[in-house]
Amino acid sequence: PVMIEFDNVQKVYPNGTVGLKDIDLKIYEGEFVAVVGLSGAGKSTLLRAINRMHDVTGGDLKVDGQSIVGYKGKELRNLRRSIGMIFQDFNLVNRSSVRRNVLSGRVGYYPTWKSSLDLFSSEDKKRALDSLNRVNMTEKLYTRVDELSGGQQQRVAIARALMQDPKIMLADEPIASLDPLTATAVMDDLLSLNKDLGITVLANLHSVPLAMKYADRIVGLRAGQLVYDKPIAEVSQDD
Ligand code: ADP
Ligand code: ADP
Repeated sequence: PVMIEFDNVQKVYPNGTVGLKDIDLKIYEGEFVAVVGLSGAGKSTLLRAINRMHDVTGGDLKVDGQSIVGYKGKELRNLRRSIGMIFQDFNLVNRSSVRRNVLSGRVGYYPTWKSSLDLFSSEDKKRALDSLNRVNMTEKLYTRVDELSGGQQQRVAIARALMQDPKIMLADEPIASLDPLTATAVMDDLLSLNKDLGITVLANLHSVPLAMKYADRIVGLRAGQLVYDKPIAEVSQDD
């Protein structure tokens, strides 16, 4: 089944910059899709349209068969809840513990006071451990995020995203600020979510070799347009 469908999608930013132009694209449930292209090609714009971090300016965009462009209120909240997202700079609360950061994925806001940990049921706390276990970070439960390496922080961000039981994981340059070895650990985690949990993954990547190693399919953007789309078996070095 189709999980995400772009139908002639356009995105023009308020200042007139074209972010996306005439995008037609179907992403199938369970796929791991790498989105490649130069800086400014529109990769981030494409991802952020899917969870409505921003709105498209033309065409239609469906998630799980439903057009999301008109979503408001509860529908919009449910959409965002069903989609996990991680970023190049992790977006964690640095001075706080791994546990608190991961638990915050359950409610979608960050619990400020010590007492607010009471907001979380024992089920939430168990879930946080399960999520951290999936990215091999349980031993860092009480560690402050700013004491972790970049790779470890990204894995905590993945665990936080898992708290909502997402159907889709969007990864916006997830390894761009990591060294190669650490990058591999993060990519391995994304692959495990995809293969073991069946989560559909879209990852913006600069590295074509990594895209070839991890993805089922490579989609290429240039100046906001889709210029490449091939299953991994058909990708050739000369492309
Ligand atoms: P990529 O992720 O491939 O680097 P982006 O999606 O970030 O590309 O950007 C696509 C184009 O849209 C670029 O020309 C970029 O400068 C522009 N752009 C991105 N965000 C904004 C914004 N908020 N306002 C105006 N232009 C933007
Ligand atoms: P990873 O491969 O997961 O990124 P590293 O090999 O970079 O981990 O880090 C190894 C150890 O060094 C980890 O236990 C981590 O907590 C610690 N570490 C790495 N960077 C920092 C840092 N900036 N501050 C404190 N500890 C760090």
